[in-house]
Amino acid sequence: MPSPAAGARSPESLGSPRALPRVVVVGSGFAGFSVLRHLERLLPPDAAELIVVSPVDHLLYTSLLPQVATSEAEPRHLAVSVRAALRRTTLALGHVVKVDFRGRTITVRQPNAVHAQLRWDRLVLAPGAVTRTVDIPGLTDHALGLKNLAEAVYLRDHVLRQFEYADACEDPVVRRARCTFVIVGAGYTGTELAAQMVRFTRRAVGQYPRLTERDIRWILTDLAPRVLPELGEALSRRAARVLAGRGVDVRLRTSISEAGAGCVRFIDGESVATHTLVWCAGVAPSPLISTLGLPTQHGRLVVDARFQVPATADVFALGDAAAVPDVTRGCQPAGQTAQHAVRQGAVAARNVAASLGHGTAKPYRHRNLGFVVDLGGTAAVADPLGIPLSGVAAAAVTRGYHLWALPCLTNRTRVAADWLLDTLTPRQIVQLGFLPPAKSSINAAERIDIYHSGHS
Ligand SMILES: Cc1cc2nc3c(=O)[nH]c(=O)nc-3n(C[C@H](O)[C@H](O)[C@H](O)COP(=O)(O)OP(=O)(O)OC[C@H]3O[C@@H](n4cnc5c(N)ncnc54)[C@H](O)[C@@H]3O)c2cc1C
Repeated sequence: MPSPAAGARSPESLGSPRALPRVVVVGSGFAGFSVLRHLERLLPPDAAELIVVSPVDHLLYTSLLPQVATSEAEPRHLAVSVRAALRRTTLALGHVVKVDFRGRTITVRQPNAVHAQLRWDRLVLAPGAVTRTVDIPGLTDHALGLKNLAEAVYLRDHVLRQFEYADACEDPVVRRARCTFVIVGAGYTGTELAAQMVRFTRRAVGQYPRLTERDIRWILTDLAPRVLPELGEALSRRAARVLAGRGVDVRLRTSISEAGAGCVRFIDGESVATHTLVWCAGVAPSPLISTLGLPTQHGRLVVDARFQVPATADVFALGDAAAVPDVTRGCQPAGQTAQHAVRQGAVAARNVAASLGHGTAKPYRHRNLGFVVDLGGTAAVADPLGIPLSGVAAAAVTRGYHLWALPCLTNRTRVAADWLLDTLTPRQIVQLGFLPPAKSSINAAERIDIYHSGHS
C-alpha cells in the first residue's frame, strides 16, 4: 500500500488516539448522514469513535437537482455540510474502493489518488447508487446524467450552449437539432426535469435574438405505459397533461436504440437530430458493491431487516446500495428513495448502537409518506399520506416537504430565499463552465471507473 503523499492525511491518522470501538460509515448521503446523526445522539461520547468516509464533504439533497439545472436553486444550497452538522464525526475524504472483511479494514482512495487503509470495528455501507446505463450503442459516450451537482450545473451550461450555437447558425435544420432535447426516463427525475426545463428554456430563449419559443422541442420517453409510474393513474394523467400543455412531446412504450454525436434513434427506427440526451432511466448500486464478493439482489447488497450483511460480522448496509427487505411489501427490496434512506438510517443507528451494548436492535418497518413531484411554477402532483393532490395545493405541499426534509436550517433558509428571489428578480441565466465537456460523461462525472476488480 503506498504511503500518503506529503500533505495528505491518511484516514488512519484521523482516528482518536484512545482505543474506542470505531464505527466507520461509508457514504455521506441520506442514509450515511442519517445513521451518524442518530449515532451521535444514541452513543455517549466515550462509547465509540465515529468516522465517515465520503468523496464529498456534504449530504447532497438530490430532490432539488432539477432546480439547479434550471437556475432556480443555487448548487451550494443543496449541499449540507457534514463538518457543521455532525460535530462528533470525523470526515475522511475519499472513495472506499475495497473492503477486507477478515482483516477489518477498508481501502480509501483519497482525492489525490493515494490509497490508505482504515481499520473498523463496525462498518456501515451506504455508498448509494450511480446512474444505471444499459447496452445501447453510443449511450455512455453521448448521454448526460443527473445524479450530482456537477452534472446538474453541466446540463444547464450544455443547454445554454446549444442556444448559443443555434443563435449563431443560419441553417434551420442544424438550428432545430441544437434546440431539440431528449430525456429518457419518465420517473420522478425525468418528469420533473422535463417539466421544469421546458419552462426554463422558454425563459432563456428570450436572451437569444434569433431564437423563439417555437424553436424549442423537448422529448420525454419511457418504456413504461405512463409517466410517473410511482404514483396513481389519476396523478400520472395530471402530470402528463401539464407536460402536454407545455408542449413536451411525451413518447411512451418506447425508448431509444442508439445514441450518436448529433442524433438519437428510437426503437421504431425514427431518427431525431439532437445534441442533448439526458439519461434518467434508473440507478444502479455503487460499483463498490460488486467488488465485495457478497450476495446481491439486482446488484444491491443482500441484508436482513436489521441491516446486517449475512456471512459477515459487524457489517451493516442500507440505502440505495442495499436490498433492505420492506416487511410492509412482502419483504421485497425497499424502494430507492431518500425517504427510505433517511428512515433506514435511524433504525440502522439504533442497531449499530445495540451491537456496542447501547439499547436494543429492531427490524426496519417503513410507513410511506407519499411522493411529491415538482413540475415547476405552481404545477405539481403529490400524494402525501395517500391523499392525491395536484396544482397549487400539491406545489405548496411539495415545497413545504422539501424545506422540512432538508436536514439543516442554513440550507433550508437559503433554498427558501432562492425561491423567494426567483419570484422577485429575473432568473440569472448564465453558463458557469465548472466541468469541461470531456469530463461530462456519466462514467467520468460519477467516478464509476475507479474501483478495483476482484474480491477482498
Ligand atoms: C435527481 C434526483 C432526484 C431525486 N428525487 C427524490 C425525491 O424527490 N424523493 C426521494 O425520496 N428520493 C429522490 N431521489 C432518490 C434519492 O436521492 C436516493 O434514493 C437517496 O439519495 C439514497 O440515499 P443513499 O444514502 O443510499 O445514497 P446517496 O444519497 O446517493 O449517498 C451516497 C453517498 O455515498 C458516497 N459514496 C459513493 N461512493 C462511495 C465510495 N466508494 N466510498 C465512500 N463514499 C461513497 C456519495 O458521495 C454519497 O455521499 C432522487 C434522486 C435523484 C438523482
